[in-house]
Amino acid sequence: MSDRSVDVIVVGAGNAAFCAALAAREQGAEVLMLEAAQEEESGGNSRFTAGSIRVVYNGVEDIKTLVPDLTPAEIESTDFGTYNAEQFFDDMARVTQHRADPDLVELLVTRSFATLKWMREKGVRFIPIYGRQAFKVDGKFKFWGGLTVESVGGGPGLIAMLTAAAGKRGIAISYNTRALGLLYDGVRVEGVRVRHDSAVKELRATSVVLACGGFEANAEWRTRYLGPGWDLAKVRGSRYNTGDGIRMALAIGASPRGNWSGCHAVQWEMNAPEFGDLAVGDQFQKHSYPFGILINSTGKRFVDEGADFRNYTYAKYGRVVLEQPGQFAWQIFDQKVKHLLRDEYKIRQITKVTSNTIEELAERLEGVNPAGFLETIKEWNEAVRTDISFNPNIKDGRCTQGLAINKSNWANTIDTPPFEGYAVTCGVTFTFGGLRINSDAQVLNTDYQPIRGLYAAGELVGGLFYFNYPGGTGLMSGAVFGKIAGTTACVY
Ligand SMILES: Cc1cc2nc3c(=O)[nH]c(=O)nc-3n(C[C@H](O)[C@H](O)[C@H](O)COP(=O)(O)OP(=O)(O)OC[C@H]3O[C@@H](n4cnc5c(N)ncnc54)[C@H](O)[C@@H]3O)c2cc1C
Repeated sequence: MSDRSVDVIVVGAGNAAFCAALAAREQGAEVLMLEAAQEEESGGNSRFTAGSIRVVYNGVEDIKTLVPDLTPAEIESTDFGTYNAEQFFDDMARVTQHRADPDLVELLVTRSFATLKWMREKGVRFIPIYGRQAFKVDGKFKFWGGLTVESVGGGPGLIAMLTAAAGKRGIAISYNTRALGLLYDGVRVEGVRVRHDSAVKELRATSVVLACGGFEANAEWRTRYLGPGWDLAKVRGSRYNTGDGIRMALAIGASPRGNWSGCHAVQWEMNAPEFGDLAVGDQFQKHSYPFGILINSTGKRFVDEGADFRNYTYAKYGRVVLEQPGQFAWQIFDQKVKHLLRDEYKIRQITKVTSNTIEELAERLEGVNPAGFLETIKEWNEAVRTDISFNPNIKDGRCTQGLAINKSNWANTIDTPPFEGYAVTCGVTFTFGGLRINSDAQVLNTDYQPIRGLYAAGELVGGLFYFNYPGGTGLMSGAVFGKIAGTTACVY
């Protein structure tokens, strides 16, 4: 890679970066993307996703716009429902406990559909998420939880389609190129200092878009900002998101924003490796817990597994597991709900025990007090309101009564063998704290003024997510703010 000058440099090559690059190119800019990973490992967290993306739609006609190849048979057998702007606003406000920045949320929600349509025009294809977001009841699929479409081929498919779209439009990508710092004259960002093939170079640009992820893969920063114990979490995705973009911007006076002590973290296979494995993708996650119970090393339950649809609890329950003794838990199911378990329960790389009696299961759950567990099951089976009918497609109100921690929905007795246990720990997805941006995706300094020539999108933007997160919003926010950043980066 020679020293060069372009109109726009985009740091990163995940979803937010590609959307920024495509938008800048659309304005006629010459664009260079810088990616720390080798090409084989590139694509960031975006490549590890299922490609599920939260978008406003007002009925099947909008779904048809995003998925034109939907067949008449699919339309006939599916109740897509709606997910309107009000619902998206409500979800963002509720799960973030009304902390999310209203201006950023406004852009996220109101631009979601148009942005997905734009991505489709660039060559990204979508399909309905039949496998994970809709159960078939009385012969009809019904979508729930506001999450209805995913990219074809999941995260790997998304990155492949975005890479092809960028290549077709002459956008250059320099892999194995880590941005180290911003070139800044005190007034304007003028480019990026990078390391490539063991050499350090200065690359000049009129504008720089930072889209290089949060600090989830940095154990030291996790401990520093999320708190003690977070060094012990497994990283679900890319090992390259070490907070570089945030660090580089803070170093020139950018303003920090958002929930720096918060992150998205889920229940994750206990023996998963330190970082994500592209061959397994997101299959280490274990997201069918609303249909079972969770117990810790004492054999006791510690959380309401059915507090809400999976989409609205999964991102905060990783933290709850991290807080348990030994940082692990077991998910317990019986035969009655086995057919509801997601595909990720069928992979080989799993810590699973099966048993024909509860007593035998109690002995096999490694690290768990058997007597405590047996007592929990006894109390549990007596507390389930079996007079209320079970329905996985709605919040069915089938709860428990009289327990120290009750379950609000989808409670079933655990009495039908074989019984199954799956061991989980905490897997961190991405961090919530980041940079302060305005509605043009310009990075603001500590005087709350735009830093000229500097834009940001994706995980490293602060102010959107606090405590929790509605599933599928990471890709949508990267797309919306990536497109805005790429467009405004051309307004020099
Ligand atoms: C297992 C898993 C499953 C998920 N599932 C979903 C889902 O289904 N739907 C959803 O909406 N969200 C999901 N998420 C969250 C989602 O991945 C992120 O919110 C989103 O992809 C972030 O996009 P991004 O472009 O900001 O970051 P990334 O996609 O992580 O891209 C950042 C890029 O920057 C590069 N980089 C880092 N530092 C540097 C540097 N110094 N110089 C150059 N390059 C650098 C990285 O290599 C990487 O390619 C999931 C995450 C994981 C880990």
